[in-house]
Amino acid sequence: MNYYSLNKKAPNASFKAAVIKGIAPDKGLYFPEHITRLPASFFENIDNLSYEEIAFEAIKQFVSPDIPEDVLKTIIAETLSFDFPIAKINENVSTLELFHGPTMAFKDVGARFMARCLGYFNQNNSEEVTVLVATSGDTGGAVANGFLGVKGVNVVILYPSGKVSDIQEKQLTTLKQNITAIEVDGVFDDCQDMVKRAFLDEELTSKMQLTSANSINVARWLPQMFYFFFAYKQLYKTHKKIVFSVPSGNFGNICAGMMAQQLGLPIYHFVASNNENNVVTEYLTTKLYQPKPSVQTISNAMDVGNPSNFIRIQEIYKNDFDALKSNLSSYSFSDNATRVALKELYNNFKYVADPHGAVGYLGCKAYLKEDTNAHCVFLETAHPTKFLDVVEEVISKTIALPPQIEAVMDQEKKSISITNYEDLKTVLLNTVS
Ligand SMILES: *Cc1c(COP(=O)(O)O)cnc(C)c1O
Repeated sequence: MNYYSLNKKAPNASFKAAVIKGIAPDKGLYFPEHITRLPASFFENIDNLSYEEIAFEAIKQFVSPDIPEDVLKTIIAETLSFDFPIAKINENVSTLELFHGPTMAFKDVGARFMARCLGYFNQNNSEEVTVLVATSGDTGGAVANGFLGVKGVNVVILYPSGKVSDIQEKQLTTLKQNITAIEVDGVFDDCQDMVKRAFLDEELTSKMQLTSANSINVARWLPQMFYFFFAYKQLYKTHKKIVFSVPSGNFGNICAGMMAQQLGLPIYHFVASNNENNVVTEYLTTKLYQPKPSVQTISNAMDVGNPSNFIRIQEIYKNDFDALKSNLSSYSFSDNATRVALKELYNNFKYVADPHGAVGYLGCKAYLKEDTNAHCVFLETAHPTKFLDVVEEVISKTIALPPQIEAVMDQEKKSISITNYEDLKTVLLNTVS
């Protein structure tokens, strides 16, 4: 598969080149040249296929020929080494739990898949690749964990000092090996600015191969398609009209769902569930796409003012507003409404959600008011312990730490503190000795 840049001013790239570059030279996002629907026999037979077999069929066309089939099978097996269960909330609502991976965030799948692709591409290369990422919380842990021990790849993660949760900080700073955690005296935007500056710094890029690991990278974005197939396999016998409500920030996850639909997966409709960062909700009402600075909320992994993957969604619908609108609804919810939803899920259905999942649940409720005979699945994108302060306070109950989290909590933190870009540069140059 070749990929073109959505800015249309860069040469096409193979899967391998697109993964290594992350973003096209004209700063556009990469998009696959073709999308070939899976045969009807695949869907008729889905009950007999394992998750690994489903994932293999779904992603094969996007990575071939750069990743041979036997290697792809191994990568998938290693990526999907945990469960993706559905929990029933009531007759019309279920949730797909995507938090059973090592860092308990749905980003584990994309990060693990990308890490293994990069490791494969780099196995005979004497020059190491450095993955540089800024994180406001969840991305960093998933990336650090996904890349841990991958040969030929160094990972450098910047996070704002004192502004991530204790659990998130432990997940970033206790791994060591090929992972370096950098604690920046500043806010998330400062981390992001330093990363952007590094990618443009020729003194650095002439000495080292730098790449990014956020959802603009095709190897992190596309494996998220798997979730929608896994939910379908669990639900299609009992529910004919399946709608997905996706708690959305950068819109990578929901855009991957739309790719699954393009492959022929019978998804009836999508709901983009937003917190008060509501650029897309506004767009679907007013036809005006107006990015704005993000506002802080209790579902902070969705605090995005200009979702980077929305341009890919526009491409899927060929910039046809009506076509998009007939397949996508979007609602925005306040922190207050989110707290009420957390409480309702716990009191009425004995389900402990996290704030992102609660926004997804609200999206289902809003949609089902308009379409009463659909079955709505909201994606539960993080384990509630990752947002312990909010959840425990709202439901007035302490939550036991799962073993993955327990294990990192008594490890020793190791980070490098920096205050400015020159400090970062020194650290990076030290990794290429
Ligand atoms: C990243 C993240 C999201 C948003 O996903 P996008 O693909 O950026 O839309 C939602 N919930 C959690 C917990 C996340 O970490």
